[in-house]
Amino acid sequence: MTTDALARVRALLVDMDGVLYRGDQVLPGASELFPALRALGIGFVLITNNSSRTQEQYEQKLQRMGVPVRGEEVLTSGQATALYLARDHPPGTRVFVIGMDGLVQPLRAQGYVLTDQEPEVVVVGFDSALTYDKLVTAHRAIRRGARYVGTNPDPTLPTPDGDVPGSGSFHCLLSTSTGVRPTIVGKPHPPLFEMGLARLGTRPEETAIVGDRLDTDIQGGRNVGLVTMLVLSGSTTIEQVAQAEQKPDYVFPGLPDLIEALYRSRGVPYNAGRR
Ligand SMILES: [Mg+2]
Repeated sequence: MTTDALARVRALLVDMDGVLYRGDQVLPGASELFPALRALGIGFVLITNNSSRTQEQYEQKLQRMGVPVRGEEVLTSGQATALYLARDHPPGTRVFVIGMDGLVQPLRAQGYVLTDQEPEVVVVGFDSALTYDKLVTAHRAIRRGARYVGTNPDPTLPTPDGDVPGSGSFHCLLSTSTGVRPTIVGKPHPPLFEMGLARLGTRPEETAIVGDRLDTDIQGGRNVGLVTMLVLSGSTTIEQVAQAEQKPDYVFPGLPDLIEALYRSRGVPYNAGRR
């Protein structure tokens, strides 16, 4: 795509892990990106498939890293799941949840009753305190006909000590035992992207996803009609991009190159736009 197409981008959905940071390590350009977007009048929402942390916990993590972002500028798959359920289920609906603060809190805020007694909905996200009892409760409820919804399909979760089983792996177990497949809210499925767009108030063709994964960020973004931007600071190598059947619209080594390209597309020299 051309610089002209870049000039039409009015807002960004920004993935966090592998784009802004890796583990607790902030990545180059992360602290400059948001002041730059504000200076250029480009809207943004930070999105993540991770449902463990709340908005406030993300704000604290990012502030610690020197990335100036407010909690309300973050949209997690936990929040998106609560908003997704709100389309069909009124406050007071009984929900059984496997998950942590970042999922429990938005479900409570939506007015749902979190219970293991005859739930109408089972919601499954990452849970570091997963037990066999929780799996049994979820299994029985789904078998009885409760709606089965998942925050994200990620098979693993990155940690400083290496990958651990993610909530996508929990779904393998429950899908096998119940014979029911969950509805998934997070990337590459459309709901999280759609909710990000709704919050930005922009159309897909004038909104870009910035992410580090071809299978979730780029494929999912393309499915909903977004402009796609891959950064090579995370889990994808330039060799993998070369082999990919569907290429991202833009590939940047890292955020500094993306920021520079956005400035150039507006006819503003990057250095002049720097704080
Ligand atoms: Mg990522």
